[in-house]
Amino acid sequence: MNILLKNGRLIDPASGRDETCDIHIVDGRIEKLAQNISASGSIQSVDLKGKIIAPGFFDMHVHLREPGFEHKETILTGCTSAAAGGFTAVACMPNTKPAIDDESVIKFIHERAKVALNGLVDVYPIAAVTLGRKGEHLAPLAELASAGAVAFTDDGDPVHDAEIMRRALEYASMFKKPVIQHAQDLPLTKGGVMNEGFNSTTLGLPGMPSIAEDLMVARDIQLARYTNSQYHVAHMSTAGCVELVREAKRKGLHVTCEVTPHHFTLTDDAVRTYDTNTKMNPPLRSQDDVEAMKEGLKDGTIDVIATDHAPHSFDEKQVEFQQAPFGIVGLETAIGLAITELFEKNILSLYQLVEKFSTNPRRILHLPQIKIQEGESANLTLLDPSFEWKVDVQKFKSKSKNSPFSGYVLRGKAVGVFNNGRVYWN
Ligand SMILES: [Zn+2]
Repeated sequence: MNILLKNGRLIDPASGRDETCDIHIVDGRIEKLAQNISASGSIQSVDLKGKIIAPGFFDMHVHLREPGFEHKETILTGCTSAAAGGFTAVACMPNTKPAIDDESVIKFIHERAKVALNGLVDVYPIAAVTLGRKGEHLAPLAELASAGAVAFTDDGDPVHDAEIMRRALEYASMFKKPVIQHAQDLPLTKGGVMNEGFNSTTLGLPGMPSIAEDLMVARDIQLARYTNSQYHVAHMSTAGCVELVREAKRKGLHVTCEVTPHHFTLTDDAVRTYDTNTKMNPPLRSQDDVEAMKEGLKDGTIDVIATDHAPHSFDEKQVEFQQAPFGIVGLETAIGLAITELFEKNILSLYQLVEKFSTNPRRILHLPQIKIQEGESANLTLLDPSFEWKVDVQKFKSKSKNSPFSGYVLRGKAVGVFNNGRVYWN
């Protein structure tokens, strides 16, 4: 590999840089970073005028489905989907079969990820908080942390028992790991398939009230304060939660959160089609909630954009709304939605977008920041922020096609990614 990236705009929040420059990459390393590097010999030169060079994007909320649900996705197809979407790293969730509650599952995922695309996409397993994600007994957190788990969550289900949550926070903080909560009060959401409100009433579908999410986050913030530990809210969806996290941050607590592209783009009006690709958990909420997500992203309350990439096979979603599983594929539309909904509408700058897609997830998971400088391994995401394209789910690299954004015209796409000596061009 001998590539010269010419005239790109380098945005690197870790070093505070935002400037136009050339980058010469040899065998996966940044050989030279300067203005006007001249191409000589057999160098492949790529003109990146108008395009962005950023530290490799990291999606900290992805379901790779393997082991156990390979008909939905595998580590290989999930990593390919990530690379096509512009990500050089993902953190994968533990609701696999078996769950990631044992170091052997972490080893299995690491081994599979190393050979998938020759390690182009780094995969960081997030382990379960409780054994089998059943919410009853704590998983062996110390063993899981030393095997390489970067965080703990029972994602898909909340850690409902306050005593277990308290212990999880205490133990996880001993290993400097966050506990990530799927915030949902179960009795309040029993049987719910969409947001509770005007639309659920007129559609006659059982609702999940926003208070169910707010209550759980409010409780957890108190527990995080009491135990002086690190807490992260997964896929936040309500205005109430944004306010709770804003207040917790104001008080100096170690509380962070993420939002998905679908929660800052769509409202529960989308469910009126009865399209099962609008069924997710937490559900699509109201316009006020969407506005709160944008406000939270803008003022820094919301640290991270994560996709909650949740592939399901065609047959699984091809059923009545109430029977369908929750979740949509997210990796390949995330950048387009973020640029279309946030950058184009002046909510976030490209610099802030790079922070939420790259710098912040690494900070929250205590992973080293990427260094874009001479001598360092090239871990880069290349973006074209003005490229217009139409979402064609049949072209997804993910094994699944369940997306509510089919046919959407978006602006902004990944041009390619570099990582671990590998390159992927879109
Ligand atoms: Zn999830």
